[in-house]
Amino acid sequence: MQAARPSNAVDAVIVGAGFAGLYMLHRLRGLGLSARVFEAGSGVGGTWYWNRYPGARCDVESMQYSYSFSPELQQEWQWSELFASQPEILRYANHVADRFDLRRDIQFGTRVTEMRFDRATHRWDIRTDRGDVVSARYCVMATGCLSTARVPDFPGIERFTGKTYHTGHWPHEGVDFTGRRVGVIGTGSSAIQAIPVIAQQAAHVTVFQRTPNFSIPSRNGPMTEAYAEQWKSEYPARREHARHARTGILNNPNDISAMEVSDEDRQRIYEERWAAGRTNFMAAFNDLIFERQANDTAADFVRGKIRETVRDQSTAELLAPKNHPIGTKRICVDTDYYGTYNRENVTLVDARATPVTEITAHGLRAGDIEHRFDAIVFATGFDAMTGALTKIDIAADGVTLRQKWEAGPRTYLGLMTSGFPNMFMITGPGSPSVLSNKIVSIEQHVDWIAECVAYLRACGLDCIEAKQSAEDAWVQHGNEVADKTLYPLANSLYMGVNIPGKPQVFMPYIGGVGAYRQACDEIAAEGYRGFELSAQTAALAAE
Ligand code: FAD
Ligand code: NAP
Repeated sequence: MQAARPSNAVDAVIVGAGFAGLYMLHRLRGLGLSARVFEAGSGVGGTWYWNRYPGARCDVESMQYSYSFSPELQQEWQWSELFASQPEILRYANHVADRFDLRRDIQFGTRVTEMRFDRATHRWDIRTDRGDVVSARYCVMATGCLSTARVPDFPGIERFTGKTYHTGHWPHEGVDFTGRRVGVIGTGSSAIQAIPVIAQQAAHVTVFQRTPNFSIPSRNGPMTEAYAEQWKSEYPARREHARHARTGILNNPNDISAMEVSDEDRQRIYEERWAAGRTNFMAAFNDLIFERQANDTAADFVRGKIRETVRDQSTAELLAPKNHPIGTKRICVDTDYYGTYNRENVTLVDARATPVTEITAHGLRAGDIEHRFDAIVFATGFDAMTGALTKIDIAADGVTLRQKWEAGPRTYLGLMTSGFPNMFMITGPGSPSVLSNKIVSIEQHVDWIAECVAYLRACGLDCIEAKQSAEDAWVQHGNEVADKTLYPLANSLYMGVNIPGKPQVFMPYIGGVGAYRQACDEIAAEGYRGFELSAQTAALAAE
């Protein structure tokens, strides 16, 4: 690889300009470092730039799904709904970019394709698809866990004469489905948000469901001034509380077992949680993700609600999940998802009994039937957690990241991976990441990385690398914690099962956001225990 010219040298390259990349740039600038951000999209916002499908909105309340690093920002920004829609969240990301003058260091429409670490100089050489060659001391991968959209390899896609869309790659100009027959493949969080909205417009919607998911009503509504004010007046304490909560969400946890209460009390508690809506449902009892018997009570309750809501009982039965414990896939939050199946213009197809086998010129084939469509929506998800990282050709000492992670990702704290010095990951595999309120986890990682870089500089050091032994111990700990829960029982994106050939390991850390933060803080306080710290002079002397 051609080396970067000195003029193309910066202290840090950040890959990605979603919430992680934006805040990382702000923090590194604050330390006086020069930084350059590369972003494949033409604007900031990451997830909220790409996922413009109808109905897209956050599943964590906006008062919580927002940055906490700037007291002024969190006081001045006004959300219009309890759960903001994608356009509003994208406006927020743009506001942050402008308010903190971030754009001047972001190069849009540029994808990082290759990264090489040079042991002699302790620097990364980074290449992009636009021909840039940049040298950086540190590389921060703010590439996102859900940024590599995936369409299954259905044969015949090129034959289809209608339009195809992926929820994670939605056209910026929007899509008018009026009068159109639409096929939707998938019933994950994206589909569950999109289907009710598409059904209001389209002539007919046919949903192909392979695995039903549990969904809880969001009870979304306008943000009242009183509600926002209550949050804003207590923000410092509430944010601090969230940073130490299990999922990074203040969800009113009930610290008793589901099996400790009478059947009547349990039912009442579930009814209250269902009426209140949102992901708080899973905090109804403290053992729902640990004990199958407890979990079954919550799953039965939701299945009952589905049967109550959906008039056609064979459709209700198909929609009622039975093959995984509730909450072991990210629980969905919806607005009238189950009720949508009562519409005349919505049909549910069991894509497990009759799998989609090919796309045809006029639709798709599932089982023996050819379904005819004007448009097909792929709500088929992402190559989660590792996809964006392994898509880049990253190598150090002749070993690529793809080789190293052949049997599944291995990291120390989800922040670094041994053998790849000075490369940090934000919400990487091995951290709470997709199991948490992502903004809480992003801020924690960004702060940890910024403080780590400041520490290195203060000590006259310029290189940090995870030790193999520390990484092995962290991976083992992560597996042990996961095995105490019901999570590994689900075929979820957390396990990588949605990508053919991807190794099946439980990727995020499920020990809890608070416990994880404490571990990271302790490791830093002990002089970055488990990391090798060094200086370039030492590297040169050793040669
Ligand atoms: P992203 O927002 O994914 O940004 C990563 C950026 O990196 C992208 O813009 C991408 O283009 C860029 N990039 C990747 N590779 C390269 C490369 N090689 N070169 C250049 N650029 C690159 N989380 C929650 O906690 N609550 C929610 O309610 C919630 N809702 C979600 C809804 C949807 C539809 C999806 C898909 C995810 C949702 N998430 C939610 C998770 C969401 O991804 C995170 O909350 C958060 O937005 C991630 O921010 P990020 O900056 O880490 O990554
Ligand atoms: P997903 O949860 O991975 O769902 C993908 C869907 O496509 C699944 O139903 C899957 O079925 C189906 N599918 C894949 N290949 C298929 C095939 N060949 N035939 C039939 N069906 C197929 O993806 P997602 O819905 O985009 O959500 C991903 C993550 O993004 C979520 O877990 C969440 O973290 C986040 N998200 C959050 C929100 C929110 O509420 N704010 C909204 C959207 C996304 P199987 O389950 O059988 O594989």
